[in-house]
Amino acid sequence: MQERVFNFNPGPSTLPLEVLQQAQSELLNYKGIGISILEMSHRAPEFEEIVAEAEKLFKELAGVGDDYRVLFLQGGASQQFALVPLNFLAADKTADYVITGSFAEKALKEAQKIGKVNVVATTAAEKHKRIPKQEELNLNKDAAYVHITTNNTIYGTQWHYIPETNGVPLIADMSSDILSRPLDYSKFDLVYAGAQKNLGPSGVVVVMIHKRMLERVKEGLPNIFSYEILAKNNSLYNTPPTFGIYMLKLVLEWLKKFGGLPAIAKHNEAKATLLYDVIDEDDFYRGHAEPAHRSYMNVTFRLPNDELEKTFLQEAEKEGIFGIKGHRSVGGIRASVYNAMSLAGCEKLAAFMRDFKKRNG
Ligand SMILES: *Cc1c(COP(=O)(O)O)cnc(C)c1O
Repeated sequence: MQERVFNFNPGPSTLPLEVLQQAQSELLNYKGIGISILEMSHRAPEFEEIVAEAEKLFKELAGVGDDYRVLFLQGGASQQFALVPLNFLAADKTADYVITGSFAEKALKEAQKIGKVNVVATTAAEKHKRIPKQEELNLNKDAAYVHITTNNTIYGTQWHYIPETNGVPLIADMSSDILSRPLDYSKFDLVYAGAQKNLGPSGVVVVMIHKRMLERVKEGLPNIFSYEILAKNNSLYNTPPTFGIYMLKLVLEWLKKFGGLPAIAKHNEAKATLLYDVIDEDDFYRGHAEPAHRSYMNVTFRLPNDELEKTFLQEAEKEGIFGIKGHRSVGGIRASVYNAMSLAGCEKLAAFMRDFKKRNG
């Protein structure tokens, strides 16, 4: 392959080209220090500055103040499935989970190993093609927290409202739509996201946590699992994924330069709409998600049969359209159009979809 292709991979996924170029230019000698960022101590003042700057930028972009901390940890979103109940689900409490897809299900399963949980709504019977309405959530007023998954990466649905929990802490897995649209982040007590979809490379997970939650962390946890200890040490309790955090900081700078969340949301909506418009033209392509619940990050659809889907994938790849095979659990096609995907990429895919339909419809 001579040139870079349009990369629609669900995660790890495409990164802004400017960010890759900056990392390349700084790789051998970071800021004239004479060593690579890859070789630098996590206790070096230059690295501490990167962590502090990343925290500041994240808060600025999310629009939250100093009553929040932002941590850069390891173990992916999957580790957070366990850390959330380990830290906050006491023996005499229950937690509420809304099940809107496979990752929500995984989060639930981990919590069940740690304490008592309630499924307060599930869309499993409808193959997770929509998000439940507020009235459908059977929330418990004494719950330790409510857990939701704001974007369902595999099914291609997204919450377009923030549920009202009446004072119960709201916790969200935002792995696949973090910082992709303006959102009242102050409604959330804890938000976590694997960086590899919207924020950087794999190996870093971002946790935004309200300070009042740090006071509620259960006693006696191993240090490495305690949000309180991790926050007290500014994400440097042990050696963090230094290069990943550096890359994440570059992505946040790129996002700020782009115009922040209002600008990126417009960009993301325009991109996804190009694809949904083709799906809605007739019955050749069938979208998985109900239109009102569609994701602006993962566009999922089927073709008339498996054979055509196979041909579609093969031909797309020849056109430089990469990574659009659907998840094995739902099949079909999934185009992931995270922040860093360009409009040109979606224009190319939309044109290819129309051309393929004309030839095979
Ligand atoms: C990708 C993804 C995960 C899994 O993340 P890991 O970092 O691989 O653990 C969890 N939740 C959602 C919503 C995801 O999209």
